[in-house]
Amino acid sequence: MTEMRRPLIAGNWKMHLTLAESAALARTVRTDLKETAVAEVVLAPPFTALSVVAQELAGSPVQLAAQDVFWELQGAYTGAISPRMLQDVGCRYVIIGHSERRQYFGETDATVNRKIKAVLTVGLQPMMCIGETLAQREAEETLAVITSQLTGGLADLLPEEINRLVIAYEPVWAIGTGRTATPEQAQEVHSFIRQLLAKQVRPDIAYGLRLLYGGSVTPDNIKVLAQAPDIDGALVGGASLKADSFLKIAALG
Ligand code: PGA
Repeated sequence: MTEMRRPLIAGNWKMHLTLAESAALARTVRTDLKETAVAEVVLAPPFTALSVVAQELAGSPVQLAAQDVFWELQGAYTGAISPRMLQDVGCRYVIIGHSERRQYFGETDATVNRKIKAVLTVGLQPMMCIGETLAQREAEETLAVITSQLTGGLADLLPEEINRLVIAYEPVWAIGTGRTATPEQAQEVHSFIRQLLAKQVRPDIAYGLRLLYGGSVTPDNIKVLAQAPDIDGALVGGASLKADSFLKIAALG
């Protein structure tokens, strides 16, 4: 974390919560979030709950995110949700390329790239997720995987467009496993991402972009993670489903 970049804490609710549960959780986060909170706080409910959560968050500083999107703005694409619909419901951010989307829904760096471009055309901000699997880490391929995911996901984007992104480093082996990356492991990759962006995009943009860490973040480990110089917040899964733990994380421990 550095004073230059405002930290961001996002709760990814994944495929959890009914409408009533979503509204209640959003309401508690909104009311109990300290006015002095330093971090920008974002909630990413499932598609079905975006509208009720938007209503709960109206007029509050807590922002709304979607967990995925399709790359066309409208048309005959049964089952899909477009960037325009997400803008219409009140989202500011869209999570793109989460490892669960890559694993279960066949997302690739090419689809991530199309989605990022589509989201940018309607003025929303992509939260692009990247990260290596355990096998890739053990084969010492982490930095190569990060490089190809970044290069593929950001292909043909202008520096000014990349400037609108948030990037989340989420090692797949740390997601939902209780096995958090150490601050040193995460910082090493975050610093690598920033240096790569400085080289491939532009140094000022690389230093201004927020890089989140994701993977078993809890109220107990957020503080040390957020102290690492290149970690600017977190994408939180499991611990975002309980208001008290999420609010502690939002307060950066
Ligand atoms: P987790 O999930 O916090 O439950 O590990 C993080 C994520 O998938 O974004």
